[in-house]
Amino acid sequence: MTAPRLLFEEIEIDLGLDEPADQGALRARVAARLAVPAEELPAIELKKRAIDARGGRVRFHLTLAPHDPSAPALGEPLPREVDREGRVIVVGDGPAGLFCAYELARRGIGCIVLDRGKAVQPRRRDLKGLTQHGVVDPDSNYCFGEGGAGTYSDGKLYTRSHKRGDVRDVLELLHVYGAPAEILVDARPHIGSNKLPKVISAMRERLTELGVSFRFGARVVRIERRPTGAVRSVILADGSEIAGEAVVLATGHSARDVYELLDDAGVRLIGKGFALGVRIEHPQALINGIQYGKHRDHPKLPNAAYRVAHTEEQRGVFSFCMCPGGFIVPAATELDGLVVNGMSLSRRDSPYANSGLVVSIETEDLERAGYRGPLAGIAYQRAIERAAKLAGGGSLRAPATRAADFVKGRASSSTPATSYQPGLFATDLRSVLDSGGIGLSARLARALSLFEKRMRGYASEEAVLVGVESRTSSPVRVPRDPASLESPDMPGLYPTGEGAGYAGGIVSAALDGIRVARAIAAVLTPAGS
Ligand SMILES: Cc1cc2nc3c(=O)[nH]c(=O)nc-3n(C[C@H](O)[C@H](O)[C@H](O)COP(=O)(O)OP(=O)(O)OC[C@H]3O[C@@H](n4cnc5c(N)ncnc54)[C@H](O)[C@@H]3O)c2cc1C
Repeated sequence: MTAPRLLFEEIEIDLGLDEPADQGALRARVAARLAVPAEELPAIELKKRAIDARGGRVRFHLTLAPHDPSAPALGEPLPREVDREGRVIVVGDGPAGLFCAYELARRGIGCIVLDRGKAVQPRRRDLKGLTQHGVVDPDSNYCFGEGGAGTYSDGKLYTRSHKRGDVRDVLELLHVYGAPAEILVDARPHIGSNKLPKVISAMRERLTELGVSFRFGARVVRIERRPTGAVRSVILADGSEIAGEAVVLATGHSARDVYELLDDAGVRLIGKGFALGVRIEHPQALINGIQYGKHRDHPKLPNAAYRVAHTEEQRGVFSFCMCPGGFIVPAATELDGLVVNGMSLSRRDSPYANSGLVVSIETEDLERAGYRGPLAGIAYQRAIERAAKLAGGGSLRAPATRAADFVKGRASSSTPATSYQPGLFATDLRSVLDSGGIGLSARLARALSLFEKRMRGYASEEAVLVGVESRTSSPVRVPRDPASLESPDMPGLYPTGEGAGYAGGIVSAALDGIRVARAIAAVLTPAGS
């Protein structure tokens, strides 16, 4: 028998919802497209799968390629035994810190990973307590703890990065450590809060076997310098000191105390634009109807996602971090503020769809409103978060307004059923959103009216705005040298990930952590080599 000929590199096909998608059916489609007998084709592999719902015709869009038996195994290169001295200190065990540690281990370089929060299991218990009793632990919450802000999230894995190989590397690693294989082919991959913690702890366990150490409940409160000005050590809240040759700062956008300690240490910070607004929640059935039309109940279709965007007075108003079949969660890190965010389980099967709906804020907006200096954005976020907490009645009940009322400029007297467990408090969210001195609510209301025209029901009585979504991205950048990736103000300090202003989600933070590891590896060779 002759070996199958390689007749194509990649081929794209559309598949109707009721068409079969097994290997035989796909081979037949490819053979017909190439006008060759199916027996002449090599084995076919699904490379990408997207749902295309444009124009009311819902179908799957597939990218297929010949199976390549010589492709390297998933997740290679493997991490290896590291020097146990841990010459690198990684502060923060979110995606940036964890993937940085992993990449260092691939190069045989050991590190110690410090996180102020708890490991995934005890952290889960704190989140339960947070939701049920409304008590925020400033070191263990939806933002802080093993895996960082994304551990108990929707686990969406999209990124705007065009570095296909590097993005693939991150996805492969997540899969190798337990995420479902679908993330390797779905155009909009996601993992879900029930699966992500296991992936994160499996990565930690493997790294620990190889000599990397992890310490939880280890909050860094100071960074010490050598006489040369370079980084020497970090000081923890319990007073202990850990010395290292390099410190990776991967503390995320909610570690406001870290910006303050950097400022005190003479590390320059730059204020940057970010976005702030609300979470909007709809019955998922409404969104499925809008997106899928008559196919809304088709068993092959997942709960639908959406994206909306509009520019209003030169400022973007856009949906952000949409969670189909998800839950709104309390994501504050401070006792006197209220913050909401979204998460979902892998099945995305709650009866609610939620999404951030936010307005972009530039540094000049902050200045006009009286907030100055590099930490202006944080002061502004804090003001709004405190106003939200007060408006909700002082507990974790979130202030909320039905979308239809918000557009009409009035308070709601009731709210619809919600996924947000601490509950909603019917009010007029405009006073919260405008309390920081930047007129967000008028822009949001005009954009909502427009979205209603595009998606009938989007701004209806059934939709509710929940306040506030304030932690969309970092309002601060920690500058770094473009070649060495070190802070120009403190050699040996490597700011990375979302908190430093170089990422906006799980995958981009992981990619940035890997980049920093490579920069460190260029100057630190493994012990004994
Ligand atoms: C509820 C929620 C849902 C989200 N959903 C998604 C999603 O679906 N998809 C997506 O791409 N993104 C999502 N995000 C955003 C995403 O989680 C972040 O972009 C990403 O985690 C940033 O990674 P990072 O490593 O830079 O920082 P983080 O993940 O924020 O990690 C920082 C870590 O540093 C630790 N730390 C902070 N200060 C100190 C200190 N002083 N000492 C020691 N440790 C410290 C923290 O405990 C934390 O573990 C979500 C965020 C939240 C809160």
